[in-house]
This record gives sequence, C-alpha cells and structure tokens, in this order.
Amino acid sequence: MKIVIFLGAPGSGKGTVADRVEERLGYTHVSTGNMLREAVKAGTAVGEAAKSYMERGELVPDEVMIKVIEARMDAGGADAAFMFDGYPRTVEQAELLEKSLEGRGGTLEKVVFLDAPRDVLIRRLTGRRTCRDCGACFHVETMPPKKEGVCDDCGGELYQRPDDQEETIANRLDVYNSQTESLVSRYEEQGVLVRVDSDRPVAPLVEDVAALFESDADASDGQ
Ligand code: AMP
Repeated sequence: MKIVIFLGAPGSGKGTVADRVEERLGYTHVSTGNMLREAVKAGTAVGEAAKSYMERGELVPDEVMIKVIEARMDAGGADAAFMFDGYPRTVEQAELLEKSLEGRGGTLEKVVFLDAPRDVLIRRLTGRRTCRDCGACFHVETMPPKKEGVCDDCGGELYQRPDDQEETIANRLDVYNSQTESLVSRYEEQGVLVRVDSDRPVAPLVEDVAALFESDADASDGQ
C-alpha cells in the first residue's frame, strides 16, 4: 500500500489538485471531509458523531477519524495507492496513521504541502461552491462552473458549504494553525515533505505537482 498526503490549510487547493492528478498518476483520492459530509447526509453513526464538530469548524475526534481512514485503507486492499486529502490533521493522527501503515506493510511516499497566505485562503473559501453529489469544488470568480449552480463533472447541484461561511472559516484557519501546522516540520524532519507554492492558478499548480511524481517515475525507470 502506498500513501501520499496532501497537507495544507483549508482552501490551499488539496482537493482540487488531488482530484486532477489522481487518475493520471494512478492513485485514489481520499478526502476525509467528503467522506464525513457523505456520512452526515446518509445519517450513519460516523455522521452523527461528526456533525456538530464540522458545523463549528472543529476537528472530529481522532478515534472517530482513525476508524474512517482504516476502513478506507482496508477496502482498497494491499496494493492500493491513496492520496489523502485532509488526513492527518494532528500529530496524534499522524502517529496513528504511521502505526496503521506499519501493520499493513504500507509506506508513506511523499507529503505535498500546499502553501498559500491567509488572505488568499479566505478569498478562496468564501467564493467556493461545492457539488452536493460528487464533492467537486468551483469558485464563483476564479473557477466558475460552465453553468451557474451546476457541477461540470456530474451535473449535481452546487452549494456553499455551511462551514465556508465567514464566521466558521476564521475558526477553521485557527484550528489549522494550532493543530495541523506542526505536521509540516514533522514531515520535513522525516525527509518526505515537498513544499509547493499554491498561490497560483490551478493549471500550472497541477502540472508542478504532477511533475513531482513523474520525475520519480523517470528516476526509477532509469535504474
Ligand atoms: P475539509 O473538507 O477537509 O475542510 O473538512 C471539513 C471538516 O471535516 C473539518 O472542518 C473537520 O470538522 C472535519 N474533518 C475532516 N478531516 C478531518 C480530520 N482528519 N480530523 C478531524 N476532523 C476532520
């Protein structure tokens, strides 16, 4: 099992980039935010446990999250390759993930850290519109859908996530600063972190991220 982690604040572009490179690079994009929103919509036990935290922009407890992520890993089988977007978000989650990978003979290949300034994140989050059905993201100004209110990918209805409203955004960014940011130095020390400036248009950003993987493939072909 191979894992790549997309790390970055809400609005840094993790989901958008992972969505656009997953097929090309042969990974499955796993967004814990999307999985939780689906669980809330379906009214499952995980959804019930997660709902109130999500509404406040707080983190869902680690013991809930590790069950979600382990079930997803096990459903993929031993040869799966995943791009995690939104997990881990705390040092505890990173440690739990390391244990889970060890137990499954999996490896953490790379952590792609998407870096953007706070004002850019706020602008992206307040203008973001998300598909109710497939979770694809658009932006009212910088990445509008072809038809207003309709998802280009699946035709589903676009909506503004309640936690993308201004009051909750500030809390989510503070939670990121206090709980997730320290993962950057952890992965830097482990030598797996690649920092990418994500304050750029999507197309060149996607190409740069894809190139990080394609140059690895070239290097191993040449061995
Ligand atoms: P996202 O779509 O990644 O912004 O996630 C939306 C919300 O889901 C977050 O604000 C959290 O409430 C919850 N969430 C997603 N991933 C995690 C995680 N790894 N740990 C805790 N809560 C999470």
